[in-house]
Amino acid sequence: MEISYFQFPGELLMRMLKMLILPLVVSSLMSGLASLDAKTSSRLGILTVAYYLWTTFVAVIVGIIMVSVIHPGGAAQKEITEQTGKPIMSSADALLDLIRNMFPANLVEATFKQYRTKTTAVIKSPKMASEEAPARRILIYGVQEENGSHVQNFALDLTPPPEVIYKSEPGTSDGMNVLGIVIFSATMGIMLGRMGDSGVPLVSFCQCLNESVMKIVAVAVWYFPFGIVFLIAGKILEMDDPTAVRKKLGFYAVTVVCGLVVHGLFILPTLYFLITKKNPIVFIRGILQALLIALATSSSSATLPITFKCLLENNHIDRRIARFVLPVGATINMDGTALYEAVAAIFIAQVNNYELDFGQIITISITATAASIGAAGIPQAGLVTMVIVLTSVGLPTDDINLIIAVDWALDRFRTMINVLGDALAAGIMAHICRKDFAQDAGTEKLPPCET
Ligand code: ASP
Repeated sequence: MEISYFQFPGELLMRMLKMLILPLVVSSLMSGLASLDAKTSSRLGILTVAYYLWTTFVAVIVGIIMVSVIHPGGAAQKEITEQTGKPIMSSADALLDLIRNMFPANLVEATFKQYRTKTTAVIKSPKMASEEAPARRILIYGVQEENGSHVQNFALDLTPPPEVIYKSEPGTSDGMNVLGIVIFSATMGIMLGRMGDSGVPLVSFCQCLNESVMKIVAVAVWYFPFGIVFLIAGKILEMDDPTAVRKKLGFYAVTVVCGLVVHGLFILPTLYFLITKKNPIVFIRGILQALLIALATSSSSATLPITFKCLLENNHIDRRIARFVLPVGATINMDGTALYEAVAAIFIAQVNNYELDFGQIITISITATAASIGAAGIPQAGLVTMVIVLTSVGLPTDDINLIIAVDWALDRFRTMINVLGDALAAGIMAHICRKDFAQDAGTEKLPPCET
């Protein structure tokens, strides 16, 4: 049987994931950020969002360091060049493309195309040597092949040698510009929050859309195990050495878990301790129940009511702070997801033997942060937004198949870190803003929360 038929159920899974990106990102960001109304987007809002962005970025850096040190995908040997069928691109072009993608000129086009600089090699014929520029004699030896066998050795005498010029032109390539859509939706969400009552119809629409998309995801999740079996089997059939891949996958899982442990058990608690001067272990003990629910459900949104309850009852966090910090965190703060996205992208590059340059690593760190912001707090949402990170540096999106086998397990651990990050943020904000809230005691300034 043709491998492609065997891969068909897995291909359907990929199509489902890609189908859900647009409604998921737009609705979760717009409805989540709309809660930042004019009043709350003051001190607490700005501090919370800044803290979230900062810790997410730190998580990405931890992931990049881990995956570079452990190197689960094996040694990289080649650059993403024309030999590997990918466009050659300088770091500067990659960075400019990233910025271009942040501001799509056409939102409809952004749903199926993104900016990508195309570089072409132009060979200029040699100029005649002049007296001022004395001729240089060089010999180019070559071998001509005919029907696979060498037929002739030849030498060319060129004065001076031909010049190869690389010409870069901004263009577009297939694939959704999720970064542009994330930026647009986030801006819309913030503006809607500031519009007050007049923004309510659109906010309700987004909330409704978000809920229905989450229901679709919940149904699609049932198909995942079936699709995954075929995805992996199809991938293994294609592989020359499946055992080596399994081994690499094991190392990849260990890399993600190590990164999560470093970030969740060392960096975040240290940050909490440095800012609040309180014992982070006592704080974490207070939210243990929420962490277990996160482990069981793989969903930070589903865990939200329990996190809220733990913070109020065990850690005595101001209800108004928890009401604001937690839902926004469940939408935009996913340290675990960001760390995993960076590790996964670099792992895929390593498995394919692509060597990433510094500019591409920067691009991965920014897009992994953006992708985690765009991911909803539901099971395996990070896998969906993974496409953003891979396409940003021209890595094959089909290779998500590689990591899908262990994703169900890694998702549980990263969700725990996502929930832990939100809870610790609430503790830190409660400490920083304690004076504002002591003065305001009794006045409900913050938007109501469903919990
Ligand atoms: N499952 C994660 C969460 O709910 C999101 C993800 O990384 O897939 O926080």
